[in-house]
Amino acid sequence: MSTILYIAHTECDGTLSKVALETLSAAKSLADGMDAELAVGLVGADIVAAADSIAACGGTFYGVTGPEFNDGVYSSDLAAIEALAKECAPEIVIGPATSRYSRALPGLAIRLGGRVDTHLSGLEAVDGKPVAKRWFYRQRMEGTLTREERPWVLTLDSGCAVAFDGAGSAEVTVVSVDVSGVRTKSLGMECVSEDQQTIRPDAELLFVTGAGWTKKQADGQVHVDVAEETIKNFLGVTKSSLGSSKSLVDISGEGGAVISFLTHMHQVGQTGSSPRHPKGLATCCHGEEPHVVGWRFIKERRAINTDAGCGWAQGKCDVLYVGDAFEIMKKVNELIG
Ligand SMILES: Cc1cc2nc3c(=O)[nH]c(=O)nc-3n(C[C@H](O)[C@H](O)[C@H](O)COP(=O)(O)OP(=O)(O)OC[C@H]3O[C@@H](n4cnc5c(N)ncnc54)[C@H](O)[C@@H]3O)c2cc1C
Repeated sequence: MSTILYIAHTECDGTLSKVALETLSAAKSLADGMDAELAVGLVGADIVAAADSIAACGGTFYGVTGPEFNDGVYSSDLAAIEALAKECAPEIVIGPATSRYSRALPGLAIRLGGRVDTHLSGLEAVDGKPVAKRWFYRQRMEGTLTREERPWVLTLDSGCAVAFDGAGSAEVTVVSVDVSGVRTKSLGMECVSEDQQTIRPDAELLFVTGAGWTKKQADGQVHVDVAEETIKNFLGVTKSSLGSSKSLVDISGEGGAVISFLTHMHQVGQTGSSPRHPKGLATCCHGEEPHVVGWRFIKERRAINTDAGCGWAQGKCDVLYVGDAFEIMKKVNELIG
């Protein structure tokens, strides 16, 4: 019987990230579909809580543990997952596409003489054989791929599977790894505070800001300071993910008044990102096609615009509030604050 090895590293607080739990669901259903054994390999300073949090997945647990495996150092991450892979000789290795494993897993494929495919959007067993799915051309086309080479090393992107939920008490076989030869020393990890990090892929709501926030309003004046405060308040309370139109993030290059915490990383659309959130609210954004194309994975779409004939009104959102976003969001902030 072949083995599917699922690997994950713990986060700063010893838990597993959402994408790690999603990847476990995908690995488990692939193992079921292929009638393969599921092996679970965990890496971290202390993996007991993480192992217990997923104990019900039915896999055989292995762990590489110790303070030297707390931080994402390529050489120790690679040494750890190589040891785990050698322990259970898997046909397939699957890990979450975190920044740590996006770096380390290609290295693992080289060391094992296998092949790697990254940023997958899905996995399934077809006639007992593994088939991977991946988006191409900025997520406009989804391709399916198979490979004959083994081991096949895979990373799964976030938001592509349901997070595994099933705690219990796990029995973990500890695998020892000698990293005394690793010269890179990590001085510590600084996690970004929730308030500094406004791009939150796991948030319930995507809150999009458009150029209207910096345009002259009914009184003939611009109110960028009020806009900043209003947006910040809303994000602070709701912990929504912040997105923007291209026009707004481009304003800094054009010398206009800017929303200080927006960067090009926030841009949603054809030349920006296509985030996945259950809900989206666009404010002061016209809803032009190159922007709205980035909303294709947002399930429920709402927009606020003073213009009842804006792009959102052309069948691009579920609910359009025709009104002044400054006033509406001020009221919303009062209600939720
Ligand atoms: C090749 C190409 C690629 C592109 N890629 C992208 C992309 O990736 N992402 C992207 O966003 N755009 C992209 N664009 C640009 C896109 O076509 C639009 O120009 C852009 O999305 C417009 O941004 P906006 O809606 O914020 O600004 P505007 O078009 O200026 O709209 C501002 C809106 O704010 C409203 N408004 C003003 N004040 C208020 C108020 N008080 N309350 C409520 N509403 C108010 C106005 O009615 C207006 O509808 C691309 C364009 C091209 C040609």
